[in-house]
Amino acid sequence: MAATETASQGDSKMKIIDDEFMVCADCLMIIANDDDSGLDYHYGKDAAERLAKIEAGLSAVSAVSGHISVGDSDRDDEFSTRDCDCCGTTLAGSRHHCVVIE
Ligand SMILES: [Zn+2]
Repeated sequence: MAATETASQGDSKMKIIDDEFMVCADCLMIIANDDDSGLDYHYGKDAAERLAKIEAGLSAVSAVSGHISVGDSDRDDEFSTRDCDCCGTTLAGSRHHCVVIE
């Protein structure tokens, strides 16, 4: 495979930009499995609105940096009122550890 390095970033190819990107269960489902079918189940007619917020969050991340990847499940928070770093929901619930990779 030919080398495709464009930037002179130095040593590492994969740079972690955000090592503590905590997302809600809905976002995790989409980040991990690219599966939004659960939204219909949970939100019914509001599913499209939820999905739009999640996709907006995902594209905001990819616009500035790159790629969200599922992180360390040991660092998940079973119950948190922290805003989801992706869709911004303030609904209390589980938050799952992800990393943002350039
Ligand atoms: Zn979310």
